[in-house]
Amino acid sequence: MDFAFVSGNPALDLAGTVTSRRDEPIELLAVPADLERWVAECDELPDRVTADSAAFESALSLREAIYRLACDRVLDRPFDPGGLEIVNNAAAGPMPAIELSDAGLRMSGDLRAVLSQIARSAVAVLADPGARLKECGRTGCTRIYLDRSRGARRTWCGMDECGNRVKAAAYRARRRALATAEGNGSEGTA
Ligand SMILES: [Zn+2]
Repeated sequence: MDFAFVSGNPALDLAGTVTSRRDEPIELLAVPADLERWVAECDELPDRVTADSAAFESALSLREAIYRLACDRVLDRPFDPGGLEIVNNAAAGPMPAIELSDAGLRMSGDLRAVLSQIARSAVAVLADPGARLKECGRTGCTRIYLDRSRGARRTWCGMDECGNRVKAAAYRARRRALATAEGNGSEGTA
């Protein structure tokens, strides 16, 4: 399955690598190589890292802590102390190095530095009182995203991921209802 970077923040995107969390969770980072690919695909992180199994476990533990804190933020309740400890410890680690060239910004660092960077992004977004964090409106998605739209009217984590699927399902449901109504011989379904 492809990774989606639609949450508006790398920490929230990492939390989104488990989808459908309340029903039947789908794990997108099953092995360390999945995490390496996720980091490489994320625009705001170094292009290449290697993940051993210990670093992989730390990444998953950080991810779950970020998700818990993001839920706390969405539900406007105090942060989970265990989650705070994990995120704050990771945020205190070394940072990736950055370098400017004509090709733009290049970032490099090992996985520990990457996790530190992700934890700092989590701290920044979760500490920002103006950041509008929402859970996606599609039942079963459970992704939390940062709504930067004017008037905060965004309903879906992403149009391709969820918005279009919900609209297509609603369209099919309307067609079915219409077909049933016509089958019953009733008029004036508008
Ligand atoms: Zn969604």
